[in-house]
Amino acid sequence: MSEERKVESRKLHPEVYWRDEGLLFDGSRSGRIGVQLPPVGVEEVELDQLLPAEELRGDLEEMPELSESDVIRHFSRISRKNYALDIGLYPLGSCTMKYNPRINEETARYTGFAASHPLQPDSTVQGNLELLWELEGVLKTLTGMPRVSLQPAAGAQGEFAGMLMARAALDARGEQRRTVLIPDSAHGTNPASAHFAGYQVQELLSNERGTLDLEDLERAMTDEVAALMLTVPNTLGVFEDQILEISRIVHSKGGFLYCDGANFNAFVGKALPGKMGVDVLHLNLHKTFTTPHGGGGPGAGPVAVGDELVPFLPAPTVERGADGSFYLDYDRPRSVGRVRSFNGQFGMMIRALTYILSMGGEGLARVAEMAVLNANYVRQGLEEDYHLPYSSPTLHEVVFSDKWQARHGVSTLDIAKRLMDYGFHPPTTYFPLIVSGALMIEPTETTGKEELDHLIAAMRAIAEEARTDPDLLKGAPYSTPVRRCDEVRAVKKPVLRWYPPEPEAG
Ligand SMILES: *Cc1c(COP(=O)(O)O)cnc(C)c1O
Repeated sequence: MSEERKVESRKLHPEVYWRDEGLLFDGSRSGRIGVQLPPVGVEEVELDQLLPAEELRGDLEEMPELSESDVIRHFSRISRKNYALDIGLYPLGSCTMKYNPRINEETARYTGFAASHPLQPDSTVQGNLELLWELEGVLKTLTGMPRVSLQPAAGAQGEFAGMLMARAALDARGEQRRTVLIPDSAHGTNPASAHFAGYQVQELLSNERGTLDLEDLERAMTDEVAALMLTVPNTLGVFEDQILEISRIVHSKGGFLYCDGANFNAFVGKALPGKMGVDVLHLNLHKTFTTPHGGGGPGAGPVAVGDELVPFLPAPTVERGADGSFYLDYDRPRSVGRVRSFNGQFGMMIRALTYILSMGGEGLARVAEMAVLNANYVRQGLEEDYHLPYSSPTLHEVVFSDKWQARHGVSTLDIAKRLMDYGFHPPTTYFPLIVSGALMIEPTETTGKEELDHLIAAMRAIAEEARTDPDLLKGAPYSTPVRRCDEVRAVKKPVLRWYPPEPEAG
């Protein structure tokens, strides 16, 4: 328990204090039990008469002993200490934390889907295969790309699979290229994926508009370059408006144009990457298509490819035979191989297709419109109080900096922590790296105007506090179960399970 927490709880009687800390960790009492089973009416036999002694575990690891209500209350209490999308606005830039419709959960639980086994013969899971085939179909329509693999289990894995396909295609051409170009406004997973696929990364600098400098690209783009990886819109929320020219330059030297489409929420239903000269692109079902994420997954990062890369798609693909039945096609000799066990995150595909069908084409186009409108509404509301490092038109997210607050000794971290006191999840902080003290806000289309007004009012109040009472911000948050924690330790050494109490000394 932190010192701060103790100070805050000073007024509580120490005997009742533990109730607030979670019963599972403190409340174990020897002999307490959560279930009562009726006698089964068969003779009791010692275990070692049934099983050979060497198969039996010696000591059972100690477990907390609790009643059913203790356990329910433990989990309900700790869940209330957490902030969640289902509680309020979660404007975490680049993460697209939009509302996950409950109908998705309902379809994902249909027994026919939920109880099927990934090793069942194709003939017994025609419905599942049809769902994968349908989802690939709508993603082909939405991207304008000829084929899509649903296998990758995250955006980053989609990037990796995409770069493996680009490399395989270059190998097939007999070309050994070494370098991948990546702008400094790209998402951080891009250089990691290129590196994992065996390439050196060369960074390109953005211009003052926050987009790629074409002369720079022209200079860097040689026949040594395998691909340009472009985040569209980039992490500044700015659309690469010269993408046709960019693709012309990349293709003129025989390279591939990789598009990081994790931010597809900004233009889904509005523009087709396939018409922009994109050769390979990943999407994040867990962002644009409302499958739940956060806390590490499960994600789904389908990767779409142009004609030259189709032979290299991860195997198996889902195909439809002449008789109309669906099957998994393993006979793909040039495939880069499997990138994920079975058919990827099948439950997420059910949710994504449910969402897409329930929105319809026009509904999805409206998503992009509203996502962009909301981000611009926040931008307008905060422009006078927060420094906007790039003034190019904002798409689905807007990036401010702490430049004006820094004059009062207040940093992005202080602003983010204080926002928690106002009841919001903080925005993404200190990313993108090209903006010092970045505050990256992505409200998404599922936030109503009243909630946006509330966020703007809170951010403006914080800007006012920074001017008048900066020390207040440096101590924030004041209202959360823990105040400022050691974030590195919290990630590296999380306390996620119960340990038996240390025996008392003496
Ligand atoms: C979220 C994101 C990624 C990575 O996606 P994961 O599913 O977290 O691996 C890549 N690029 C961009 C632009 C993103 O916003």
